[in-house]
Amino acid sequence: MPRARALPPTTIDLPRADCTSPPQPRGVHPISSPRVFEFDNTYAAELEGLYTSWQGGPARKPAIVILNHKLAQELGVDASALDTPAGAAMLAGSDSTPGANPLAQAYAGHQFGSFNPQLGDGRALLLGELIDVHGKRRDIQLKGSGPTPYSRGGDGRAAIGPILREYLVGEFMHTVGIPTTRALAAVLTGETVYREDSLPGAVLTRVASSHIRVGTFQIFAARGENEKLKRLADYTIQRHLPEIADVADPYLALLRRVVDRQATLVAKWMSIGFVHGVMNTDNTTISGETIDYGPCAFMDEFDSKALFSSIDRGGRYAYDNQPPIAQWNLSRFAETLLVLMDPEDPGRAIPKATGAVEEFGGLYEIRWMAEVRAKLGLKTSEANDRTFIAELHAALDAGDVDYTSFFRRLAAALRGDESQVNELSCETSALRAWIEQWMSRHKAQQTDPLETAAAMDRINPVYIPRNHKVEEALDAATRADYAPFKTLHQLLSAPYTPIPGQEEYATPAPSDFGPYQTFCGT
Ligand code: AMP
Ligand code: MG
Repeated sequence: MPRARALPPTTIDLPRADCTSPPQPRGVHPISSPRVFEFDNTYAAELEGLYTSWQGGPARKPAIVILNHKLAQELGVDASALDTPAGAAMLAGSDSTPGANPLAQAYAGHQFGSFNPQLGDGRALLLGELIDVHGKRRDIQLKGSGPTPYSRGGDGRAAIGPILREYLVGEFMHTVGIPTTRALAAVLTGETVYREDSLPGAVLTRVASSHIRVGTFQIFAARGENEKLKRLADYTIQRHLPEIADVADPYLALLRRVVDRQATLVAKWMSIGFVHGVMNTDNTTISGETIDYGPCAFMDEFDSKALFSSIDRGGRYAYDNQPPIAQWNLSRFAETLLVLMDPEDPGRAIPKATGAVEEFGGLYEIRWMAEVRAKLGLKTSEANDRTFIAELHAALDAGDVDYTSFFRRLAAALRGDESQVNELSCETSALRAWIEQWMSRHKAQQTDPLETAAAMDRINPVYIPRNHKVEEALDAATRADYAPFKTLHQLLSAPYTPIPGQEEYATPAPSDFGPYQTFCGT
C-alpha cells in the first residue's frame, strides 16, 4: 500500500515562466471573430500567479475536421458560428477569441515515479470557462495551439493523428459512461509538425469539468508556496465540491472525495479493458475525469499485464497496475494537502491523510465488483464473488479470449447458444467450468434469462476503439482521408448496436497486426 508521507522541505528555485511576455494575438484571419462562447473566467480571475497569460501560435490555414454538434448544444454554443473560417481560426488558436482570457496553467508531476518540478501547459491554452445548459462550469481548452513558457523545448504542437485519437477515444469513453474530458472540435492548422515524419498539425478543443490535476497542487507544494496552494485548494472546493466548504476539515474532505472519484474512474477503466498508459500525477484530475489519450489502448484478448506504451519498459502502467498506481498518485495528492490540514505541524496530519488514501482499496473493490457484476448480468452479490471474478480472469487469460466479445457472447449463452462463447477460447475447459457456475448463479437468481441478456447487451459494447481500427483511421487521416475515421466514429457513437456488414469492427486485430505499441509525446 502506498503511504502518505510528509513532503520533504524544498529549496527549489524555479525559473518563473510568468516573466516572459506573451505574444500578441495575431488575428491572421481578415474576418473579425464572432462571439461564440459566453465566457465566465474564474481561474484567470481568482488564481493569479498560478498561470501565465498567453496566446496561440500561427495557423496558416485553419480548417475544421470535425465539430461536435451535440456537445456544442450542451455548452450553449452556436456550432454554426464555429463552422466558419473565423471559427476555425479561433479553434486553431491563431485568432483571438472574444471574451477569452487565454492562459497556460502551471503544474508539476510525477512522471513514471520521478518528480518533475515544472511541467505546465506546454502545448495547451485554457481559453476560459463557461456555464453549460445544465448549469455546470466547463473549461474550454485548446491543445496543440503552439509553444508556451512551459514548453521545455517542445514545439507546442500536435499532429492530426493524436488529436483525432483523443477525439475518438474520449468521446467513446463518454458514450459508455466513463468520466472523461470531451472533444468539441478538431481543426487542422495548415502548419507542419515534425515528429519522425512531417505531419499535418492540428488542435483539439478540449472541454473539461476543470483541468486541475494532482500536479497543479504539487508545483506549489514543492515550492513551499502555501498561500497559492491554499487559494488553489479553496478554489477547487468551491468549483467541484461546494458542499464541503464549511465542514470541519475541508482539505481532508477534498482528499476523500478525490479518492472516491478516482476509485470510481479506475474501476470503470478496468471493466472496459482500458489501459491509460501514462498515469502520471499531472494526468490525474481532481474532477475524476480521464485526461490525455496519448499512449492509451484497449485490450483485445484479456491479459492482466496488458501494456502498450513503448516507453513503459517496467510495466508501471500495465492493466492490473492501474488501481495501485491511482492510489500511489493519491498519496502524492495527500502530501500536498498536509500543510493545509495542519499549517502549524503538517506531520500531525499524516495519519488522517493516510487513512483517507487507504480508503481507496475498499472503495475500488466495491465499484469494480459492481461493474463486473453488471457486465455479467448478476443481480446479487455473494461472498465468493471476488474469487469468482478472479477465476473468470484466469480462464480468459489462459484462453486468450477477446475481452469485449466475451460479454456479448455470454449473453447469447443465456439465450440458449453457448457455442459462441466457447468458440472464443483456445483453452476451453477452465472457461466451460466457469460458465457452468455462472449459469447456476443465473438460475438461482430466478430472473428472466432473455431480459437479463438484453440488459447485458445494453452495457457491454459490440464496438470499442479496436487498436488496429484506430490506427487505420489515423493513418488515413494523416493522408487527408477522413472516411475511415468518420466510419469508426459513427460506430462508436452507438456502440451497443451491431450493424450488419460491420463485423470487422467487432473483432480483434488480425495476427499480422502484431503486438501493439503506442507512443508518448505525440
Ligand atoms: P502529456 O504527456 O501530454 O501529458 O504531457 C506532459 C508534459 O509535456 C506537459 O507539460 C505537456 O504540456 C508537455 N508536452 C507534451 N507534448 C509537448 C509538445 N509537443 N510541446 C511542448 N510541450 C509538450
Ligand atoms: Mg498531460
